[in-house]
Amino acid sequence: MQNRRVLISGASVAGPALAFWLRRHGFTPTVVERAPELRDGGYAVDFRGASLQVLDRMGLLGAVEAAATRMGEVTYVDSANRPLVVTPPTYQSGELEILRGDLARILYDATRDGVEYVFGDSVTGIAEHGDGVTVTFAHGEPREFDLVIGADGLHSNVRSLAFGEESRFRRDLGYYVSIFTVPNHLGLDRAGRFYNEPNRTVGVYSARDNTEAKALFWFGADQLDYDPRDAAQQRRIVEEKFRDVGWETSTLLAAMREAPDFYFDSASQIKLDSYARGRVALVGDAAYCAAPLSGMGTSLAIVGAYVLAGELAAAGGDHATAFDAYSREMRGFVDACQKLAEGNGKWFVPPTRGWLKFRNLNYRLLPYLPWRKLIEELPLKAGNAITLKPYPVAPA
Ligand SMILES: Cc1cc2nc3c(=O)[nH]c(=O)nc-3n(C[C@H](O)[C@H](O)[C@H](O)COP(=O)(O)OP(=O)(O)OC[C@H]3O[C@@H](n4cnc5c(N)ncnc54)[C@H](O)[C@@H]3O)c2cc1C
Repeated sequence: MQNRRVLISGASVAGPALAFWLRRHGFTPTVVERAPELRDGGYAVDFRGASLQVLDRMGLLGAVEAAATRMGEVTYVDSANRPLVVTPPTYQSGELEILRGDLARILYDATRDGVEYVFGDSVTGIAEHGDGVTVTFAHGEPREFDLVIGADGLHSNVRSLAFGEESRFRRDLGYYVSIFTVPNHLGLDRAGRFYNEPNRTVGVYSARDNTEAKALFWFGADQLDYDPRDAAQQRRIVEEKFRDVGWETSTLLAAMREAPDFYFDSASQIKLDSYARGRVALVGDAAYCAAPLSGMGTSLAIVGAYVLAGELAAAGGDHATAFDAYSREMRGFVDACQKLAEGNGKWFVPPTRGWLKFRNLNYRLLPYLPWRKLIEELPLKAGNAITLKPYPVAPA
């Protein structure tokens, strides 16, 4: 096996999942994560289709099921909190749902004894030479690796260094999202309540056995000019967009000012012709972010890690062959998952009162519509748009 020393940037979902499989196939992964420690908590992410098979092959399906949110229905309400429509659990929560941080913790715990993790550092330079890569870091000393993999999310640093500026590959879908932890002041019991006004969606769902809740704000807008590092400015944007919105919005906005885990970003996709350049490859959101509107990002990250490690092993570590095969294997799956997000925006953030009425009417009538099954099966179809190869691992 050649090219054993693999540096992975990012310790959320794709990074630790890739480290898991690389180690099982006989590679020596090192994971560098910018955050000073594993980022716990966060919003709910879900699994559909093939990703569940991967979790099973990792022997982690039971652990993920044990930490699942077990979320129930989501109710769309009017400004007086009266139910308008109720959507079944699978619409928001897929086949299995877990908080992103809980998933990261499970993956980290499954890999920490055999994988070197470096927290609080970041790659600053990638210099490829004949038989390897010299990597420089913001804090640590330069090191030699055989391969570098970017698993560092939508705004991937490795992608910027090896492929070029983010704007060349990022496609904004015309929506922004903010999410953060709040008290469960509505007393929700494994359930969510969402309220809409044209072009704006406010929601809250309970988490961690109802001991807390996650508030989310979505709005449609053309590209906004803001500093991605300036949370105060981002909070002001959310305040301005939702100041005049009814229901529980003012309570949630007040909680936003105190929220320690405030998150704000555009709903964007990453579109690349190939997920590798030379000895550098990308996995998860860094390579093919599908946007939160798809509900498929976690599935893509878990499956992508499995396929990338498997193809490297199948090619005996020959990165050129493996990276080509990885891009080929993933392409159809990525396209299906990204397509899902493109159609979801208007349903989740209806742009006008007319659309809002149309959406609610559809949800209300859905149980009686002949094409109900077709609609409900769309996400599952995307989640299964890949046939997983077995990629046998050597016995431990
Ligand atoms: C609001 C929201 C809701 C979502 N809902 C769902 C859902 O319902 N279902 C679903 O499947 N998916 C959902 N997603 C998407 C899902 O969270 C991502 O697709 C998934 O987390 C991708 O994992 P990843 O490991 O590729 O990237 P990320 O989870 O983004 O992790 C990237 C990691 O890289 C680290 N990093 C960043 N820069 C550097 C650097 N320079 N050096 C080192 N490390 C770095 C970060 O700190 C982070 O730990 C949602 C996303 C958002 C934002």
